[in-house]
Parts: sequence; C-alpha cells; structure tokens
Amino acid sequence: MFELHLVDIDYDLIDHLSSMIKDIKKDKIIFISANRRPIRFVEQKIDSHHILKTDFYILDEFVKDFVQYFSDNPPTIQSPIERYFFIHDLLKENLELYNKLGGSIQKVFPWCKRISSLFDEIDKHRVENRLQNFQYTELVEPSRGIVENLKNLYRRYKERMEEKNLTYTGDLYAQMLNILNSKKTFPDYENTAFILTNLVYISVTEVEILKKLSELSDLHFVVYDDLKNRGDMFESFTAVENLKKRLQKTLSMKINEVLDSKTFKKPEINFYSFNDTISEMDHLANILYDGYQNVEAPNDTAVILPDETSLYPLLINLPLDYKPNINITMGYPFIKTTLYILLSNLFELCIDIKKGLYDTLKIPAEKLITICDYSSIFYDQDLKKNLKDIKSHIYSVQRSIIEIEKERFTHFYNLIMNFIEISTIHDLSSNLEYLTSLMHRYPPEKLKEQIFTVNAINIFVEKFLETLKKLPNDKEINVELSYIIFKEISKDILIPFEGSPLRGLQIMGILEARGLKFKHLFIPDMNEGVIPSVDKVDPLIPESIKRIIGLPSYEEKEILMRYNFFRLVYSAKKVYLFFKTGMGDNSKFIRSRYVDQLILKEELDDNQEFVNIYKPQSNFFTPKHETLSFPKPCDISLKSYSPTALDCYLSCPYKYYLRYIKQIPPSINIDSDFKADKVGSIVHAILEETIEVDKPVKDSFSVENALTVIDRVREQDSHLTTKINNDDNLKNYILDMSELEYEMFKKILEYRFNNFLRTHFNDENLKNSIVMAKEKMIKKGKLEGVVDRIDRLGDKLLIIDYKTGNSLKPPSKRKVNQLSDKIGDFGINREDLLSLKEDLKSVQLLTYIVLASSKYKADEYEGIYYLFSKNNGNIVKFKVENEVENIIAYIINHIEKTDQIYPLPDKDCVYCEYNKMCRFV
Ligand code: SF4
Repeated sequence: MFELHLVDIDYDLIDHLSSMIKDIKKDKIIFISANRRPIRFVEQKIDSHHILKTDFYILDEFVKDFVQYFSDNPPTIQSPIERYFFIHDLLKENLELYNKLGGSIQKVFPWCKRISSLFDEIDKHRVENRLQNFQYTELVEPSRGIVENLKNLYRRYKERMEEKNLTYTGDLYAQMLNILNSKKTFPDYENTAFILTNLVYISVTEVEILKKLSELSDLHFVVYDDLKNRGDMFESFTAVENLKKRLQKTLSMKINEVLDSKTFKKPEINFYSFNDTISEMDHLANILYDGYQNVEAPNDTAVILPDETSLYPLLINLPLDYKPNINITMGYPFIKTTLYILLSNLFELCIDIKKGLYDTLKIPAEKLITICDYSSIFYDQDLKKNLKDIKSHIYSVQRSIIEIEKERFTHFYNLIMNFIEISTIHDLSSNLEYLTSLMHRYPPEKLKEQIFTVNAINIFVEKFLETLKKLPNDKEINVELSYIIFKEISKDILIPFEGSPLRGLQIMGILEARGLKFKHLFIPDMNEGVIPSVDKVDPLIPESIKRIIGLPSYEEKEILMRYNFFRLVYSAKKVYLFFKTGMGDNSKFIRSRYVDQLILKEELDDNQEFVNIYKPQSNFFTPKHETLSFPKPCDISLKSYSPTALDCYLSCPYKYYLRYIKQIPPSINIDSDFKADKVGSIVHAILEETIEVDKPVKDSFSVENALTVIDRVREQDSHLTTKINNDDNLKNYILDMSELEYEMFKKILEYRFNNFLRTHFNDENLKNSIVMAKEKMIKKGKLEGVVDRIDRLGDKLLIIDYKTGNSLKPPSKRKVNQLSDKIGDFGINREDLLSLKEDLKSVQLLTYIVLASSKYKADEYEGIYYLFSKNNGNIVKFKVENEVENIIAYIINHIEKTDQIYPLPDKDCVYCEYNKMCRFV
C-alpha cells in the first residue's frame, strides 16, 4: 500500500508525523527523512514505547544499511578520496584522453572529482542507457575529451567497480533496487510500516525503490503542500506537482490531504536592506537581542542561513548575555578558517621552493611573514620561537629574500623540508598529523578565545587524516598533488557547531529546515547567487547534455529551492528577510528574485504602491558596553614598533592588543578585500620593479615597460622575479582573467600609469628628484619599518608611501605642528590618546619620516602619499617643519606605560578585522 499524505502548510508536520507513529498499528515502524532535524523533533514528541518500536534513518543511511545487510557479498563503500584515485587510474587507461586532461596527476586530479560526481548522479538516476559519446564542439578541450568518451568511460568505470565489488552513494541506490528485485521475501519487514518524509525531488530509481517497499509493507509518503491555494502566482509548489506526476507514472497510490477549513492567514513579512554582511549580521543580532529573549519552544524562532559563512559573524555579534539556548544544525566551511589559510600558505611556499624559483630555502620575506603571522596557532614553543625569530631576522637583515638555515631555524626548516619531500600518502598523512600535533595542545586559559580554531583543528584531523588513512600508505604522491588533495577534501569539510538540546533559538541551513515550521523566521543573505545559488555553468557537462541523458537540470533544482523557501515563509507568522544591495567583493549584490516576488505580492495584496523596506544604519560604532577600558593583563610593549603597529594602537589599543599581544590572526575576513584595490597593488609592485635607484623616475619608468612586465606575468615567464609573481593573490588575479577582461585591465593600468606620470611630472619637486632608495628597511631605536621610496631634491628629502586602499587618513599639517608643540603635556590616558587619534588620523607617514630622517640628513623633509586607487592619480603632500619625533615617542610611551587597555570604537569598526570577536561594539 502506498499512501501520499499532502499536509497543508498551516499544519505542523512534526505533530502530524508524531501522531502517525502513535496511530499506526504495526509491530515496527521505519521512519526515513531526507534530513536529520525533523527526526530529533519527532523523537521529542513521542513516548519511549513508540521510540522503541521505531527505527529512525536519514535516507542515505537507510540505503547504505539495507545494501550492507541484505547483500550476499556486501560491497566496499569508497571514500571520496579513494574514488578520485580510482577514477584517475581509470582515465590513465586512455592515454590520449589523459593527455588532453593535462597529462599529469596534478592536472588530471581536479577532473576526477567532477567525473566522480557525474557518474554518481548517473548511477543514482540509472540513466546509463541514455549515455552516448557526445560531440560537443563548444566545450573547453578537457571537457570535450570527456564527453566524447563518456559512454566508454562510464562502461569501464562500471566494470572496474563490479570487478572490485566497490560502491558509492548513487550506486548504492541501484544496488538496493537490484536486491529488492531479486529477493522474494524480506522477513525483517513483516508487519512493518514505512514513513518517508521531506523527499520532494525523487529520482527514477527512488520511485522504483518506493514501489517495491510499498509491495512489502505499508508506505506513507508525507510532504508539505499548499492545499489552500494561497494565491501565489510564482509556482512555488510546482515541486509537489512534479512529485505527484513522477509517482503516478510508476505506482498506484491513495492520496490523503491533511487540512482544516480555516482560512489561512498570511505571514507578516519585513524586508531589510544593508550594504554589507557585517551590518546585516549586527542588525540581526540586535533584533534577536532586543525582541527574542524568551524563546523556548523549538518551533518558535529560527534563523535560516542560506549561506553558511554568515554563521560565524552572527554568533560573534550575539552578545554573551543573550538568554535563550542556541541550537545550531549546520557547519562552518573549513576553507574559511585560519587553519586552512595557514596550511594553504605552507603548501604554496613548499611548492614554490621545490620549483626552484627561489633555490632551496631561500624564501621571499613577504611570504614568510604571512606564515610567521600565524604563529599564535601553534602551541609548540620551539616552532613558535622559530617563527618569532624568523620574523625578527627578516627585519634585521632587511632583505626581500631570506635564507632559512637548518642550524638556526631547525624546527621550521625541518617542517618545510618534510613537506617538500612528500613522496607517499604516508608522508603527507604523518606530516599533517605532526604539524597539527604542534597546534592543538592549548593551555586552558587560551582555549576560550581559541575555541573555534581548536575545534577546526580537531575536525580537520578527524575528517582529513581519517580519509587519507583509507588510501594505500605507499601510494606515490608529491607535494603538488598533496596540495590538490588537501584543497579538494577541504572543500567538503564543515566545522560543526555544538548546540544545546532542542530548545531556544534554532539556527540551520535551508535544507536542514525541510519539514519544519517556525512562528518567527529570520532569513539573511537573500541575494541572487546565494538563494537561489548561482546558475553555475558546469565546466564538465553542459545543461543540454544533462537534459538528453535525463539528469536533473538547473531548472529542476531551482524549482526545489523555490519550494523550500516559499514553504518556510508561508508557514510562518512573522518573517524577516534581509538582503544586501550595492557593491560586494567583486560584484554587485542583487536582491534575490524570491524577495522581488514577495515584494510584488505584498504590493498587489495590500494594494499599495511601494512596500516598506527598512534600511537600518550600522550601529557598529555604538558601544555595547558602558566601560571602555580594562586593566592590562600583561606587558603590551613590543621589542620593536612598525608604523603599522603604532597606527593600530592609535586607532584602537584593544585592536593592537588582540593583534600584537594575543597574536590572534585576523582570521575570517567576511568581506575580504573590502577596501583593497588590486589594481593599485599591481601598480605599486610594478613601480617597485621598474623604477631605478640613483636616477629620476622619468629615466627608468615608462608605461610601455610597465605593461610588458604585466604581459610577462600573464605568460608565466619563469625568469621574471617581480613582487607580483611572489604574491599569489595578485598573480592569480592576473592569470584568472579572460582575454577580454585582461585587455580591459591593461587599458585601466595604462590609464593609471599615465595619470601617475602626469601627476608626477606636473610636480616641480618630483619631476627632478633623484630616487635614493626603494623598499628600504630602516631601524631606529625601537622603531622599524620598510619605507616605499626615498627621493632627494637638493637639500630636501621626499619620503614616499604608496597607498593602494581607499582609506587614506592624511594628517593635517597644521594639527601636526600644533601637536608637536604641546605633546609634552599629554598624559597616559584615554582622552589624550583619543584626541591625538582625532587630530592625526594616522601616524604612518610621520613614522616613515622619523625613520628616514635617522638615516638621511636633510634640511627639510616632506612626506608624500601616492594614491593609486584614485583614478586621477592623486598625490598628497605633507611637509614637516617641526620635530615630529615627540609624537611618535608619546605613542610608544603610552603603550609601555599605560595600565589600562582602551578600546576606541568608532565608525571604522565596521572594517576592523576583529569586529567579529570584539566585546566593545
Ligand atoms: S571593532 Fe572597533 S573597538 Fe573593537 S577592536 Fe576593532 S577597532 Fe577596536
């Protein structure tokens, strides 16, 4: 017997499912849900007698257990990584294709992951009979090679899988169906009923499986539907219509509609618009804090996060005294964690060293500093000390390439060498195991602040290293392949957050919310590309081929997403939808089509011209705490102060404390590169490369030369040793552009260089000044830093700082002169520091002037900012007439003598790398 239960969204599905379990008069019930959360909710509603007679499963788990239990010869289930190697070996059997895909394991490996998921889908949908060797000229060569061999490749894949008795997710469904078809009786399912729920899209194989199960026992298939025709013109419930058609094609069924006669009440929907993620999450946290402190029942209030990367910013923004329990059913992507960033940097460094680009252990200072900056993640004191010493060494030798000697930096040297020499899976596994063992033994007092990192390390060890253990230990790999494996596996790792039991505020992703209904619903990130997710062009196989084969198309996936979203919204009482508008990292934020549709519906339903959209101002600069200081817990002085460190202290001593004393890396930058201007950074790097010392700029720099350097980077010229080549961010930015984008980019560069030259040559001083030094590391007492450029013009010294961001804070000359007179009267307190901050904005250029003047004597000093991010090639000048050393000395004195740490929150907190963990905003 097959019964389809269509439950109107006014009903609570959990109540309905719990009642079904109580009412079904069978010895045993097998309850299967597409997602885990409803199982927990149902378990909470039924008594122990019914819990004992019910077996709860997630669908995939049920299929896996069934196959393992009923197979005469149970297959081995491949792990993803085993499967990628398996597909790699399969591809290698066809050398022509293998060469088209790159001809080496490093190049072929990323295709293995794509082929693995394609074959998995083919297995699950059992569409192998529709496969062909397709001729499709519009694909890139590797994809064309694969689709031209698709049928043969899949046939060989099946043969090998059978020979070795292997299986994987999709194939498990096919195997389950084979078992159901081949066995006559299943005594285990006598006097049993099946309940399946929240499965709205089903494959042909799944329909067949359901048919067979319903012949063995009663099968109740339960889904939410809109049975009261809520006047929705967006076809939000088409997914259920499609489901009915699919089922009716194959099996006969009874339909049971569950609804009452009350008229439905539409939810109150509130729309909020923001400029960035930080303000969005801050406002969400504020609404929850102000209005949702009494959340108890699990179906009362939920935050549904279509983008899991918003989870961390949300949690960080919720004040510590937020009362309700928080129950989280989702994970944070591992690839966004500090650990992933550190390991990626380490792999890239080793690969570059191995390539011979910098000879053995001659490492660019910049790259090395990036790794040293993560030293706080290590607990191992030897390695930590090595990293600190390396950093000091970089500053003391003042060179751009640093030699790491074995005797001096043994721990770091060995670490790098071990990675470079990886030759087997065993090497990779033991190196990573060793490296992480140096990390996760934090002393308890540190654990609280580092809990997220510690958790990430533990999950990484558990998931990644366990996965590696499934491969033959002696399998040959190298460091390049290790990095690819690391990246591929890392993409699938989520760091789960522990929640309290089923009470309080529920936080979950949209798929986990299937089958659940909440009175109050918050959905942030309502933007195109997130919900629905990007209309990704599959690089392996075009949509048209997917349709011919019979695999689910993007449209079908969108229909399902639409159902999941509108079902949630229509079943709530009060809904808050948050979206961003304006410019994001690399593209414009576009409001989700679902928001547009709901706005249109609101306007039509209420006959109003415009629906109200709230645009809250970010209140980041409103302190959440009354007291804005705390006693300094330790000495906060540094051995030496860079201009950046002094600027950091002046902008906010608490930020300085987190960064330089607690050494917490600016871990997860939500809107990373928010202010960075890549074009500006590239212009900066090229200037450094091409301008020559002892000449005026006009004699060594030409736009033509500069553009040639960029072309050589693009051509991956291995003889080029520019700063861009050493900066993967910049290099990849240039390499990843399409031809058209690259042409546009060069036009922009040309424009900026020409502006630079025009501004430069219009300036009497700069036109004739002689370049004396560039990228000059200077140390003076406790001060040290790298000055971008120093020029001389007669008796005058020009100290030049290249600025690539948009956030220039030039000090006022008048203010500096006034301050240098009265700084002696300033006390070590908050008020005086704040007034210095307000007057000066930044002390970077002042510090460079102090540094330069210690090395080069002149009658007059002039600080100059070159602003590359300004299209008109701005230059901001700043003459120093009086002594400025006193100002710098005051800040150092403040750091060393203060007994309090003073946070100085203001509107710039929105850009602060620590705002997610800051207690004061
Ligand atoms: S968010 Fe503001 S107050 Fe907090 S550390 Fe950053 S700058 Fe300081």
